[in-house]
Amino acid sequence: MARSFIQSLPKAELHLHLEGSVEPATLAELSHFHNTPLATENNRYDVRGSGDELTEDDVKRLYSYDNFTGFMLAFKAVTERLRTPEDYELITYRLMQKLRQQNVVHAEVYVSVGVVRWRGQDFGPIFEGLERGRERGVRDFGVSLLWIFDAVRHFGPEAAAEVFDIAAKLRDRNVVGIGIGGDERKGPAEWFRDLFKKAADNGLRLTAHAGETTGPESVWGALNIGAERIGHGLSIAQDAELTEVLAHKQVPLEMCVTSNVRTGVCPDAKDHPLKAFFDEGLMITLNTDDPAMFQTSLNKEYELAQQEFGFTEEQLREIARNSLEASFLPVDKKMRFLQQIDLFVKT
Ligand SMILES: [Zn+2]
Repeated sequence: MARSFIQSLPKAELHLHLEGSVEPATLAELSHFHNTPLATENNRYDVRGSGDELTEDDVKRLYSYDNFTGFMLAFKAVTERLRTPEDYELITYRLMQKLRQQNVVHAEVYVSVGVVRWRGQDFGPIFEGLERGRERGVRDFGVSLLWIFDAVRHFGPEAAAEVFDIAAKLRDRNVVGIGIGGDERKGPAEWFRDLFKKAADNGLRLTAHAGETTGPESVWGALNIGAERIGHGLSIAQDAELTEVLAHKQVPLEMCVTSNVRTGVCPDAKDHPLKAFFDEGLMITLNTDDPAMFQTSLNKEYELAQQEFGFTEEQLREIARNSLEASFLPVDKKMRFLQQIDLFVKT
């Protein structure tokens, strides 16, 4: 009964990395085609370690870490095997198929453009692949999807500027916003203040991973440079004033419980502040972060909220409403999806 409520509930996902959605079977498939090192004369691709062909079992082992370093290494191993526009088309299409199966009506998907550029890959053709995957996904599964281009904090402001400029140029092609991810300690939010302002002037929406691996000062930093949504925000719990400001302003939090437990930043699900945040009036949303790499799904995150934290069906519906309210969709589309939730409740 509970499962079918969660399954049928229309919902959005706002914190979802495309690269983290690649299932073991798909990565094994891509690895089979890309088991030869790339030619090096016309790119800066670091081929070391990327020439090994992985089987599905290898990938499952690769995805079985219990700390942040293990996760980062696995993420890197995935990106090393994403090379052609067709690879990106395939993983986008398969992600949308998964979203459809869970009744996720809309997703805002992070693409690590910072990593693509750092590898020296030409992003233009890759974006065409992403868009082909998205268009086919819209047509075959009816799922709405917008892109958020993510820069890597510790690569510095110059590299981020390039990512945000690419995003600005593609704004009329379903690129709705930008974000900063990567190592919070090695790339403070202040570095990106002017770039965030410029991105906003260019009509892009602003997100930031913050308070995942560091304290509340990182969330303050993200707010101070204009982030409209906070990715993770785990350490907000340590700062009463910050909690009050976020509740007052209703800044959406992209919470990712399974991810936080699997990377070890939260020792156990029962220690997670998800329910405390909800009870304190913070605007929380549930997300998977990297569903394939954490063996989760959005429905599993809703089930976890119900089983581990005692969220009622009505509260889960509120969280689903939050996910659409906090989306970067235009108002008319947002209203249409919110109506779907209201209709679902009545039937
Ligand atoms: Zn993330």
